[in-house]
Amino acid sequence: MREQIEDDVIPLFERLHPECQALFLLDPSSNHNAYAPSAKRVNSFNLKDTRLDSVNQCVILPGYYIGTDGERKIQNFYTLEIKNEGKKNERRIWYRKGLETILKERGLGKWDEYKAQGKYWKAKCGNKEPNSEYTCCPYHMLENQPDFRTQKTALEELVTKSGHLYALYPKYHCETNWIERYWSATKRIARRECDYSFKALQENLDGFLDQVSPEEATPVESDDIIIAVGAIFAHIMI
Ligand SMILES: [Zn+2]
Repeated sequence: MREQIEDDVIPLFERLHPECQALFLLDPSSNHNAYAPSAKRVNSFNLKDTRLDSVNQCVILPGYYIGTDGERKIQNFYTLEIKNEGKKNERRIWYRKGLETILKERGLGKWDEYKAQGKYWKAKCGNKEPNSEYTCCPYHMLENQPDFRTQKTALEELVTKSGHLYALYPKYHCETNWIERYWSATKRIARRECDYSFKALQENLDGFLDQVSPEEATPVESDDIIIAVGAIFAHIMI
């Protein structure tokens, strides 16, 4: 889908509608909500630093945080350990930082508080929702950091990078999707004009679709469509 949008949809839109900005509206499926491998996602990190097989696994882009001096600091999520440096058997070992290292570097966490009680601050509190300050566990605390909060999905990254707009329809409200107007008008024509055989449907489907949205004209405005759209907006307002 990424490839289709990048290679076909956006270039085609820009050719057909130069100087225009497209609004991509998608339903919130897990496919549309997928993240790029470079994305900052809290579940990409263990509590402790994790040893990697090679430098090729260092794919998550650096993040940022606001230091105690009020300055914005860049934070890399990987560390390199060099064993026997300069010698024949020199070895380079890469680690992905864990939640503990990431938060400690940001000056965050209840590590000392727990340690004083002889306990260890566990990675996850086990609750689906964090407490109001996001201090219940390292997982929720990092999730609330600005660089993690503002992480876009792969499709949103792609669309907004190209200067276009991106939004998701409300969850569980497929009736708000404009394409449903097109399908419903097509089905109305199909019911009226087909002989209820699969063969006839196969032969005529393209023609039904074209009746609703003619190639050289704007889509047909049927009363049904306008009423349906009105009803949906009334529903959203409620
Ligand atoms: Zn929590």
